[in-house]
Amino acid sequence: MYDYLIVGAGLFGSVFAREMAERGKKCLVIDKRGHVGGNLSCEKIENITTHKYGAHIFHTNDKAVWDYINRFAEFNRYTNSPVANYKGEIYNLPFNMNTFYKLWGTVAPDDAKRMIERQSAGIKEPKNLEEQAISLVGTDIYEKLIKGYTEKQWGRKCKDLPAFIIKRLPVRFTYDNNYFNDRFQGIPIGGYNQIFEKLLEKCDVRLNTDYLESRPFKAEKTVYTGMIDEFFGYRFGPLEYRSLSFETQTLDTPNFQGNAVVNYTSGDVAYTRIIEHKHFEFGQQPKTVITREYPKTWQKGDEPYYPVNNDSNNERYEKYAELAAGEKNMIFGGRLGSYRYLDMWQVIKEALEMSEKNSRNN
Ligand code: FAD
Ligand code: UDP
Repeated sequence: MYDYLIVGAGLFGSVFAREMAERGKKCLVIDKRGHVGGNLSCEKIENITTHKYGAHIFHTNDKAVWDYINRFAEFNRYTNSPVANYKGEIYNLPFNMNTFYKLWGTVAPDDAKRMIERQSAGIKEPKNLEEQAISLVGTDIYEKLIKGYTEKQWGRKCKDLPAFIIKRLPVRFTYDNNYFNDRFQGIPIGGYNQIFEKLLEKCDVRLNTDYLESRPFKAEKTVYTGMIDEFFGYRFGPLEYRSLSFETQTLDTPNFQGNAVVNYTSGDVAYTRIIEHKHFEFGQQPKTVITREYPKTWQKGDEPYYPVNNDSNNERYEKYAELAAGEKNMIFGGRLGSYRYLDMWQVIKEALEMSEKNSRNN
């Protein structure tokens, strides 16, 4: 008999398992996929570390989380500075003085601010993503760099999306192309797999095992990091997710696009971005590997990459959360278990807090 059965060998499940194993608990981790690591899983192609489920750049402001993850890998100095390609025109991201100069020729921060104020006049309390975006950066940037990208990413109009999605991106009146504001940032040298090998070294692991097919193992407590609506048989109806298809190619050139991440922000291009993986580690290999990301509506059988946290889904989620709270000896966690758009650092923090709470209760 195990103390903990952990469903999902992604970041939440693996950090939780590690913490409980270190406290002497017997843990079994299962995953329906054929590998550990969840969406952080990497693969070597042409000796280039390739992020299989979308680019993952680690960033956090939380020193304890940064120190924790650095126990399992050495991180490089990669700073994410994506560029946007709008119909062949190149703009720096996030929205900063370089973007404003390219668009309007404004050199001084006050001139850029005036430009934005003129374009966003009239929006007092933004009610949706469109209004939020225009109030932050004006109509020109909204039209060229946000509208097309966001509508294909989320499969609905910006007017019908919550404002918080766009607030993830910094807007700066300095010439700084760093996509994140956090103190700590980098890519684990050699990729994320080594982190999971170490996190799980004191646990039993079974792959290709779907918990919901037969609920095959018994334990004192079960931690579930899959989709919460699926766990309860979609009793209140399915929650919405966005999925992605990844199209990966090896090219016989050392440098395809000169940057790890290029966003295609026009609605005319079906994919949202092209990732050139070698640039995450400043690779000098003779070939290159690129991945195009095509967003799509999630349907049963697809990977549920992004929860769609609008009001109606959040209300439905609350009903599932109530059921979850009544499940004895079950813990729901991670992006899918809590139906939230969480970054890696938040998932680690929540898994550490959950393991701490469970140790106190035992
Ligand atoms: P997951 O990684 O989804 O792990 C859940 C695991 O549970 C999966 O392996 C799944 O197979 C398994 N599972 C589900 N149901 C069952 C079942 N019934 N039986 C058995 N196993 C099951 N965050 C950042 O900080 N920086 C980034 O740059 C970044 N980029 C991202 C890019 C993309 C395209 C996406 C989708 C996310 C990105 N994230 C990023 C977020 C990051 O991926 C998540 O924070 C993190 O992976 C969540 O970990 P998790 O353990 O909650 O979920
Ligand atoms: N976004 C945009 N244009 C861009 C990049 C991002 O409009 O070039 C918007 C889009 O709505 C996206 C959100 O900003 O969903 C958050 O971007 P982020 O890069 O954080 O998305 P993720 O890493 O979650 O894919």
